[in-house]
Amino acid sequence: MITEPSADQPVWMDGTFVPWREARMHVTDHHFGVGVFEGVRAYAVEGGSAIFRLEDHTARLFRSARMLNIALAERHTEGQLSAIQVELLKKSPFRDAYLRPFIFYGGAMGLAPTTRGLTIHAAVIALEWRGGSDASAGKKRSVTLRTTAFARQRSASTLHKAKANANYITGMLAQQDAHASGADDALLLDQDGYVTETTGANLFVVRDGRVQTPPCESILEGVTRATVFELVRRTGWDVTERRLARDDVYTADEVFLTGTAVEITAVREVDGRRIGSGEAGPLTERLQKSYAALVRGRAEHSEEWLTRI
Ligand code: PMP
Repeated sequence: MITEPSADQPVWMDGTFVPWREARMHVTDHHFGVGVFEGVRAYAVEGGSAIFRLEDHTARLFRSARMLNIALAERHTEGQLSAIQVELLKKSPFRDAYLRPFIFYGGAMGLAPTTRGLTIHAAVIALEWRGGSDASAGKKRSVTLRTTAFARQRSASTLHKAKANANYITGMLAQQDAHASGADDALLLDQDGYVTETTGANLFVVRDGRVQTPPCESILEGVTRATVFELVRRTGWDVTERRLARDDVYTADEVFLTGTAVEITAVREVDGRRIGSGEAGPLTERLQKSYAALVRGRAEHSEEWLTRI
């Protein structure tokens, strides 16, 4: 899990590195919470630290900005923002880290939700990740999910592929709902009642040797999801993208979540129904092992996706 920042640790903000305590905005700079961000992990590897799929995360950040019409590309290149994350990590005393680049508006407070005349800001913070990764520590962690009534918005009302601040309001309400009912996280449906994802991870089901996951309609296009596609293919299997209903989840042999923070996490129960044996299934375990080796620089293909610090 991530740790609290220390007052002196470096934060990159609008072109310079400043101590965390000086990375401030004024209260009137808050503009309807409009912004986009990324969540990136760096792992301790032999001889130092390495960021996993840095370019892919930076590319998604720029795509998110483009979708929200934020002129990020006029200020920075993808290469610059990736290099800043590398530099920030070099200045940080830890090797296992969570990197959070974020782009947001500042400027005079207005009445209407207009972006005209606002200023664009960019910042990156690195926080220490303690406890390594569950998968690489060989822990058998699994979670419980509860379907929530807070459904993902229609595509006409939001941009699901953007990792945008506003998209997380539904996730926040859904998570409160799940916690109130004693589950670890919420399972969100779309407006037609099909399964989408959890509040911070994509979802896969395995049944009769078939791996399935919802298509990129009202979900975030996860970087870990794409990694899992690749890992599954390397085991000789395939992933099918198709709409899944709750019954597909309830009757699955295995259900697992994928995300930068959760990595590959087994789901043992959904809406009070036990999934499979109630423990991580064989494919989930296999993928967890491959993922752990990949991010820690111990897999054959590790170097393709690691930026060594
Ligand atoms: N869905 C949501 C809503 C998320 O916040 C995340 C975490 N970024 C994911 C899926 C998984 O994406 P990734 O694998 O890129 O971390």
